[in-house]
Amino acid sequence: MDNPLARLAPQLFGEFPKPFVKLIDSISIGPDQEKDEIKSLIWKAYEFGHRQHEGQNRRSGEAYFTHCVAVAQTLASWKMDTTTIIAGLLHDTIEDTQVSAQELRQEFGDDLANLVEGVTKIGGIKFSSRKEKQAGNFMKMLLSVAQDLRVIIIKFADRLHNMETIKHMTKIKQHRIAVETRDVYVPLAHRLGMSSVKAQLEDLVFRVLNPSGYKELDSKIKSSKKQRDKFIKTIIDPVKKELKSYEIIPHVYGRSKSYSSIYGKMVTRDKSFDEIYDLYAIRIVVDKIEQCYLALGIVHNLYTPVQERFKDFIAMPKSNGYQSVHTTILGEKGQLVEIQIRTSEMEETAEIGVAAHWVYKDGKSSGIDQNVKWLRELLDVLQNETADPMEFMELLKIDLYNEEIFVFTPAGDLIQLPVGATPVDFAFQVHTQVGMHCMGAKINHSVVPLNTKLKNGDMVEIITSKKQMPSYGWQKFIITTKARNQVNRYLKKIQDDESIKLGGEMLEKTLRRMKLFKDIDEFRESFAKFGYSDSGALLKAIGSGMITVREIFRKLRPQEEEIDEKTEEEESTKFFDFARSKTKGIILDGIDNLMVNFGKCCNPIPGDELIGFITR
Ligand code: MN
Repeated sequence: MDNPLARLAPQLFGEFPKPFVKLIDSISIGPDQEKDEIKSLIWKAYEFGHRQHEGQNRRSGEAYFTHCVAVAQTLASWKMDTTTIIAGLLHDTIEDTQVSAQELRQEFGDDLANLVEGVTKIGGIKFSSRKEKQAGNFMKMLLSVAQDLRVIIIKFADRLHNMETIKHMTKIKQHRIAVETRDVYVPLAHRLGMSSVKAQLEDLVFRVLNPSGYKELDSKIKSSKKQRDKFIKTIIDPVKKELKSYEIIPHVYGRSKSYSSIYGKMVTRDKSFDEIYDLYAIRIVVDKIEQCYLALGIVHNLYTPVQERFKDFIAMPKSNGYQSVHTTILGEKGQLVEIQIRTSEMEETAEIGVAAHWVYKDGKSSGIDQNVKWLRELLDVLQNETADPMEFMELLKIDLYNEEIFVFTPAGDLIQLPVGATPVDFAFQVHTQVGMHCMGAKINHSVVPLNTKLKNGDMVEIITSKKQMPSYGWQKFIITTKARNQVNRYLKKIQDDESIKLGGEMLEKTLRRMKLFKDIDEFRESFAKFGYSDSGALLKAIGSGMITVREIFRKLRPQEEEIDEKTEEEESTKFFDFARSKTKGIILDGIDNLMVNFGKCCNPIPGDELIGFITR
């Protein structure tokens, strides 16, 4: 750009900056879209962002705006809509420049401004090492997903570029960012079906957290590449030839598995690099679903398949929407080779996951796809008022790392559950009310205990009764998020109700003994003085031993003496009452805040060990 006028108004001279041209060229234009219109819109944002970030540099010395362009470029390669690509260009403007959300709104519209604001909000969340805080923030981040999933997708593009350029950071910062990526972004990418993003992030994390392991593996993979490529070719060529006779020209390629997954295999299977044969997954991409099964037939005809490694995710998609047929075959010398067969549409979904659903849907947000069932369920859980961040994180972990099983209802419907799920989990998955009234279960027509672990392919039938309600015992074996939430919520309510009832009785009895029964209303209505929201909450606190009636008395009647018949027997009863009243000090089998009743002959003092049992 030698012409200074061209620099000021390149749209008039057709001399745009190279990165901009590259960005425009990689945007997929929908059939009903005007390329020129999109080009001028993106140029406006490019020029705006460039101007705003003028003078800012990254740690590498490059102009800051190169980062924004890289993020937009990634979003374009994921075939995101124009607004999201523009949001990529401007994603750091609110945080790092003088631009306000208001200004973005005026210049580029509400949709764009909301996206950039969302990215800024998420960016403000620092995932500290304190677990609880992290879990809470994680929830907030996911809640913003509910508003617009594109915010998360932009954040992934941002994180990807930051991880790629991480070597310019200090070692401490590198470590912190890598750990955060490993703990938050990788599981989330997995859940959103963004498997290519997940693999890229995992490799980048691996490189930071285990540099020597990464280096070693890298040189081994590179030095053995030729030999492996040759081997893959001997497997692929006959398949291609066969398919050609059916006039199917597939896209076939062998791709190296990600470094972190190879390394993981070496560690978990305790094998050396040379012993791991399935470094490559061969992928066969065809146009139609029928062709997938035809290709599968050809592969199995040519090579010996390993029975137990065949998986049909086309008939049974994973909960993150992933679809493909996987089979593992034996090579000539007994090497295992994994082959994945899928359509090009499935390929797209597998690479970029939920992002694939924005392809050519410009102008209207398409919302969360049916396939991402997990996400909708999670949002359901988050909206539950009793969601405790720590507990939530635990639930999430279980759901994240377990493999899935498939079982059937008597009507033949397929239900997806994590490994280790029981009939009660199944019941809640079918319907909340089925779960709430689940009394017994049959697996493959025979009656089984409710804590039986389900197996793939089981046919499960639930026996319900209107009178049956969830019991404390269930908490020991149910594992799905949905079942846990419903059961915990119900049991907590029962507990609360009983505590309120007991609190009412305790208040009444104590006041009678203190000759103050006439003032019971005053006591009951004094909840605000003790920080409770209503009289029910105060009674609950009395019932569960958080506060005693005598403590209330002392605050309401600071000048008065407590009236009490002080016979010797009463004195000891008083002492026991005092000792017993500290039920918050009592921990029963890991559960606290429980309403506790003492046996008549049980007079513990603080420090004593108790044996108790749980009833309703
Ligand atoms: Mn950024």
